[in-house]
Amino acid sequence: MAAMSHQIDQVLIPRRRIARRVRHLAAQITLDHQQSGAEITLVPILTGAMIFCADLMRRLSMRLKMGLLTVSSYPGSSVRSQGPALLAQQLGELTGRHVLIVDDILDSGGTLGLVQGLVAELKPASLRTCVLLRKQRALQRTVKADYVGFDIPDVFVAGYGLDYDNYYRNLPDIVTLRPMMAREAQQP
Ligand code: 5GP
Ligand code: MG
Repeated sequence: MAAMSHQIDQVLIPRRRIARRVRHLAAQITLDHQQSGAEITLVPILTGAMIFCADLMRRLSMRLKMGLLTVSSYPGSSVRSQGPALLAQQLGELTGRHVLIVDDILDSGGTLGLVQGLVAELKPASLRTCVLLRKQRALQRTVKADYVGFDIPDVFVAGYGLDYDNYYRNLPDIVTLRPMMAREAQQP
């Protein structure tokens, strides 16, 4: 783990800004779900959304249940998406419930597209999506998120649940990695 700090390039979003934004997102989510029975099921997409969801849910005071999904698109030390693969699911009963999918980052939309499709098939009463980060991409994205924490440039980020080779998830800030990795991430 000694190499860990050497690979960080810079702090993109410090923990205080994240905390402030999470509070605002929770307030918005609370408001939007007030009319719909005030009970929801949160579905964080593991592993990346773990920290974000843990902070977000503690700011929500309505009754809620959890469903879990594990999706991986960056196996091992890759910094380019290999396409999303569903690794595990423990969703519970979603039919007729108000579902909020929570993910760390919306990039190409492959992951959320897969998960939204999967959840929609279970006939929830409503389906919304919340992401902490959204990468700005030239490509037209068809997948939408109802709640977005921050729009960020198209760089590879880690920390606050997001990993590189399954490391860095415990960093409290969102950081960019060393230019060496950033260049690799931008290769076609
Ligand atoms: P998409 O399927 O939208 O292209 O990518 C979304 C998923 O890829 C996210 O759930 C996240 O796990 C992963 N991902 C996308 N960009 C990054 C990034 O910059 N850093 C990390 N650590 N993961 C990313
Ligand atoms: Mg993910």
